[in-house]
Amino acid sequence: MPIIGFIGVGNMGGGMAANLARAGHQVRAFDLNEDAVARAVAQGCTAAASARAAASGADAIITMLPAGSHVAAAYAGALFAAASPHAILIDCSTIDVATARSVGEAAAEKGLHMVDAPVSGGTAAADAGTLTFMVGGPAAAFDAARPFLETMGKAVIHAGAAGMGQAAKICNNMILGATMVATAEAFVLAEKLGLDTQTFFDISSKASGQSWSMTSYCPVPGPVPTSPANRDYAGGFATALMLKDLKLALAAATTAGASVPMGAQAEALYQLFANNGGGGSDFSAIVKLLRG
Ligand code: NAD
Repeated sequence: MPIIGFIGVGNMGGGMAANLARAGHQVRAFDLNEDAVARAVAQGCTAAASARAAASGADAIITMLPAGSHVAAAYAGALFAAASPHAILIDCSTIDVATARSVGEAAAEKGLHMVDAPVSGGTAAADAGTLTFMVGGPAAAFDAARPFLETMGKAVIHAGAAGMGQAAKICNNMILGATMVATAEAFVLAEKLGLDTQTFFDISSKASGQSWSMTSYCPVPGPVPTSPANRDYAGGFATALMLKDLKLALAAATTAGASVPMGAQAEALYQLFANNGGGGSDFSAIVKLLRG
C-alpha cells in the first residue's frame, strides 16, 4: 500500500489521517503539537520526527495546516526538497488563492505534481470520511490525488488550475456566510412580528427564501433538530473559521477587482460578533447579535 506523509494532524487532519490508516495506508504523521501526533498514532498512524522525515520517499504528501504562511513555509522549507519525483503533493488547508497559486506553480517548476484541495465539511465529516474536496491543479495531478481524496471524502471535484480549489471554497463560504445572516435576520423579524417560528420555517423552507442555511442549518432551535441552534450553538463551524474564510474572500476580491458588498457586510457582522465573544460559537449564533 502507498506511503503517506501527513503534516498537520489537528482537529481536521487527525480524522483524515486516521481514515487513510484505516484503509491500509502507511501514514507517517508529523505535527508541531506532540499531543496531536500521539492521537494520530492511537488511530493507526506512525509518528514522524519531522516534516522531512514524514515526506521522504512517500507516495503522497498531505498538508492540513492553519493558513497560507504555514503552507508556504512547509513546502519551501522541507517538503519540496524531500518529495520523491513521483509523489503527489496535496494541500488540504484553507488558504489564500495567491499563496495556493504560487506554491502550486513552484511545485510545477520543480517537476512535482501538486494540487490545492480544500474541504467542505467540519471535524465530523473529517472523522467519518465524508468530506467534499474542491481541487485545483493540472489534470494529471488531480488524477493522482483522487484515490487518496476519495478515501477521506464523499465527493472530489476538479475546479480548474492551481488555486481554483481555494477559489471555489471561499466563494462557496461567502454565499454561506451571507445567506446565514439573511436567514437569521428574517427569523428575528418574524419573531418580532408575532409569526410563529415553526410556521415561518414550514412556509419559507418551501418557498423562495429556502437555502441550506435554513433547511439544513436553521439558526433558531426547533425546526431542524440537528442544527447547532438546538445545542446552544456548540460545535459545528466556529464563527472564527467563518470569519477567516470571509477575510480570504475579501482579500481575493480586492486582488481580482470584484465587488462583493454582501460578503463585506457579512464579514463586518461576524467580526463584531467575534469581538463580542462569539468566535467559538457556531456561526449560526450570529442570530444572537441580530436579536440584540
Ligand atoms: P488545527 O489548528 O486543529 O490543526 C492545524 C494543525 O497544524 C495543528 O495541530 C498545528 O500544531 C499544526 N501545525 C501548524 N504549523 C505546523 C507546521 N509547520 N508543521 C507541522 N504542523 C503544524 O486546525 P483545523 O481545524 O484542523 O484546520 C486545519 C485547516 O482546515 C485550516 O486551514 C482550516 O481553515 C481548515 N478547515 C477547518 C474546518 C473545521 O471545521 N475545523 C473545516 C474546513 C476547513
